[in-house]
Amino acid sequence: MPETDPINLVDLKAQYLSIKDEVDAAISRVIGNTAFILGREAAEFEREFAAYCGVGHAVGCGNGTDALELAYEALGIGPGSEIITVAHTFIATAEAAVRAGAKPVFVDVRDDTLLMDVSKVEAAITDRTAAIVPVHLYGQCADMDPILDIARRRGIRVVEDAAQAHGAEYKGRRAGSMGDAAAFSFYPGKNLGAYGDAGAVATNDPALDARIRKARDHGSASKYDHEFAGRNSRLDGIQAAVLRVKLKRLDAWTEARRAAAARYDALLKDLFESGRIRRVAESPDCRHVYHLYVIRVPDRDGVLEKLNAAGIRAGMHYPVPLHMQKAFAWLGVPKGSLPVTEKAAAEVLSLPLYPELTEGQARRVAEALKVALR
Ligand SMILES: *Cc1c(COP(=O)(O)O)cnc(C)c1O
Repeated sequence: MPETDPINLVDLKAQYLSIKDEVDAAISRVIGNTAFILGREAAEFEREFAAYCGVGHAVGCGNGTDALELAYEALGIGPGSEIITVAHTFIATAEAAVRAGAKPVFVDVRDDTLLMDVSKVEAAITDRTAAIVPVHLYGQCADMDPILDIARRRGIRVVEDAAQAHGAEYKGRRAGSMGDAAAFSFYPGKNLGAYGDAGAVATNDPALDARIRKARDHGSASKYDHEFAGRNSRLDGIQAAVLRVKLKRLDAWTEARRAAAARYDALLKDLFESGRIRRVAESPDCRHVYHLYVIRVPDRDGVLEKLNAAGIRAGMHYPVPLHMQKAFAWLGVPKGSLPVTEKAAAEVLSLPLYPELTEGQARRVAEALKVALR
């Protein structure tokens, strides 16, 4: 790639070219047997993905947002109940709770990992709290043991938002295998991405699996027979076929992401040591799968502008915390109430990261960052 080509946050084309023959054949196979909705590819993918996550069941659905909503509803999280989650996340975590009829209650994140600050959870519990929803943001797991402990003691559920954490581990356990249920997204840019929208709910609970399986398909386990009003959120056959091709390579791609992150660590060592910028910390309890490589820069907006001008398409995850979004103004959570979240939102900057990122590209990103910080 020429030295002047832009470097995007993610590059889905490079990955497609590396698996083109297999993906094209898989897509043709689905079209050939016209199994467009669910079907054999989806059933096989559900089995393979459940095994990958170390859970008993995975239910494919339309996208990660639906996966969250299906999990919430199946656990009885609805009108009159509250979920405790973080405001430093993608809107879907809380939006799906609102769609299910529940109210999100936000707790702050830790300053080092930007994951749920577990010390804040107990004080947020009320008699309406139905679930705690930790988000495994950027590719590493929230501190699950104390969360599971609080939930067990207080008789509330845990739903993992694992949309950014396929294959991540916490003390040897896989993301998605620790809570009552977990939501995964296969949005194209996620670590395991389809070629369109797709998602899944993972669970070890057979009753929950059965309920969600019906809920995603009009409350139905067999044609003409509808037990309850469900919805239409099924995994499509072409997406399942693409996901099966990619799942086989996910561990190798994760290794490449981790290597790219380590390369950034080395290239940016001086900047980190000088205290000019910080990186989001890796927890010693986790195996980070680096959905994103995030640094914290005091003059983030200025630096981002300079990087973009230099052809480095960095990003922000996420610049506006959920309690400061118009969509959640009705919650009445005042500015200043989640200080760590609000500071992080103003400072986070995601550097380009994908398995195929070359050493030369990483060097160009690091150089451009040094110039932008000058
Ligand atoms: C991507 C994402 C979702 C939603 O997934 P979609 O497939 O886009 O609906 C939910 N939570 C988090 C943290 C995400 O990153």
